[in-house]
Amino acid sequence: MKTIELVDLFEYLKTKYLYSFVNINIQFKSVKRGRARYLTNSITIPLWILNYPIEYQYYYIIHEVTHFIAIYQGHNDMFKQKEKELLNEFGLIPIYNRVYIKQLNGINGDVKYKRNWL
Ligand SMILES: [Zn+2]
Repeated sequence: MKTIELVDLFEYLKTKYLYSFVNINIQFKSVKRGRARYLTNSITIPLWILNYPIEYQYYYIIHEVTHFIAIYQGHNDMFKQKEKELLNEFGLIPIYNRVYIKQLNGINGDVKYKRNWL
């Protein structure tokens, strides 16, 4: 299953950005939406993302991890800036609609993911 790859991504991000946290764990669950919980140092990722393009899956993991990098920032500009930097690191350019993305492009402008609702 693809989640192995995503766990690798998480481990990479954890080593690079979350080293100051004791032990953040990630769980893939049958839930409606993901969450980053500061009290339990845990990230929950919904299983439905596996039906989406890999780039979107990366975005989802990066989004939740960014909640621990830009801690207690909610979805403010600082959060978005950090999230954008991380996505760029993986060759992804986000196009936002308020808080969340509506599209992900590659560095050549090719569309990797586009939300099918407005
Ligand atoms: Zn969020």
